Amino acid sequence: MLIAGAGMAGLVCAARLRELGRDVCVLEKGTRPGGSMLLSSCVVWRHLEFEDFRAECPDGDPALQRLIWERLDDALQWLVSLGAEPVWEDTENPRTTGKRFDPRELTTLLAHDVELETPLPDDAEPPLLLACGGFGKRLAAERGLLLRANAWSDGAALDYALERGASTTPGMDEFYGRVMPAPPARIREEDFVPLSQLYGRVAQVLTDDGVDITPPAVAWHENDLANLVGRRAWYVVGETNERIEAARAAGGTVVERDDGRIAVHVAAAVTHTIGGLAVDTNARVVGLEGVWAAGVDAGGVATGGYASGLAQALVLGLAAADDVAASI
Ligand SMILES: Cc1cc2nc3c(=O)[nH]c(=O)nc-3n(C[C@H](O)[C@H](O)[C@H](O)COP(=O)(O)OP(=O)(O)OC[C@H]3O[C@@H](n4cnc5c(N)ncnc54)[C@H](O)[C@@H]3O)c2cc1C
Repeated sequence: MLIAGAGMAGLVCAARLRELGRDVCVLEKGTRPGGSMLLSSCVVWRHLEFEDFRAECPDGDPALQRLIWERLDDALQWLVSLGAEPVWEDTENPRTTGKRFDPRELTTLLAHDVELETPLPDDAEPPLLLACGGFGKRLAAERGLLLRANAWSDGAALDYALERGASTTPGMDEFYGRVMPAPPARIREEDFVPLSQLYGRVAQVLTDDGVDITPPAVAWHENDLANLVGRRAWYVVGETNERIEAARAAGGTVVERDDGRIAVHVAAAVTHTIGGLAVDTNARVVGLEGVWAAGVDAGGVATGGYASGLAQALVLGLAAADDVAASI
């Protein structure tokens, strides 16, 4: 079984298939395994109530959402049974439940025999799992946004499948992202979490032309603000905080205004795409025999909102492995 992408979805699928006695070959375009999972806060979560999942991601496929919501707890136990040690037993968010892991330890635990710097070949034959992490790099370039993700997920799996008759889900223009300090701030991969400007709910939001675009309400995850901010905007707040000081230290533009308030020049950064390949609840790519897709290559889960990309990758990676083992 060929697996393209050594992030959360691909590595989970590979580990489960090996557990089931199958041979796998894992190809990774990048210079290291782990994908965006390695860069993440590694909180693998679901909404506490299914109704909240539906309400927060109203345009997502209810069957895929139900699968992730119902299977996540067992999937987390499976990870623990492999030797993954949670650093938090819960998410510290009253709306959600899940576990937090150390992303380096999880990558080391899961990544075996990965062929690095080996992208999915154009002529790859099924059976095949597509787990290349969506097309965040491409979307960021097209929109002039920053990238807050691994440097390799540019939609190769999407192109491969679409050329062969697959279809896409709604939400192809949506992304999950964070508001970051705008250039000239220097943002290294290890700064993706600490430099996130996660205080937008108390900020006035102004365009570069000074137009007030502050929304009437902001979601708890502030993903809506990332989509609103787009290429550039200003956050204006009454007092500084550690994230503003981190932005200043990274070379971002932080201005003390005449009215005594502080303005931070910010930009949206894409963490991952929301739309993707249409899959069924066995992670089979609709319309393509012998091809599965997991993680954010599969769309239709968080459409219209925000949910855990790692949960999507874990549950769909396992679903694909179990279906592969049962069918070929
Ligand atoms: C800073 C940060 C914090 C985050 N925090 C959280 C969090 O706390 N909780 C949460 O749920 N999510 C979080 N996420 C999102 C989460 O990391 C992703 O949703 C998740 O990793 C997606 O898994 P995946 O397997 O689909 O993609 P990835 O983990 O990104 O793996 C995709 C892999 O495919 C490889 N690839 C790309 N193109 C090709 C190709 N052509 N051929 C072969 N390989 C290819 C990539 O190099 C990569 O290794 C965070 C992300 C970031 C960047």
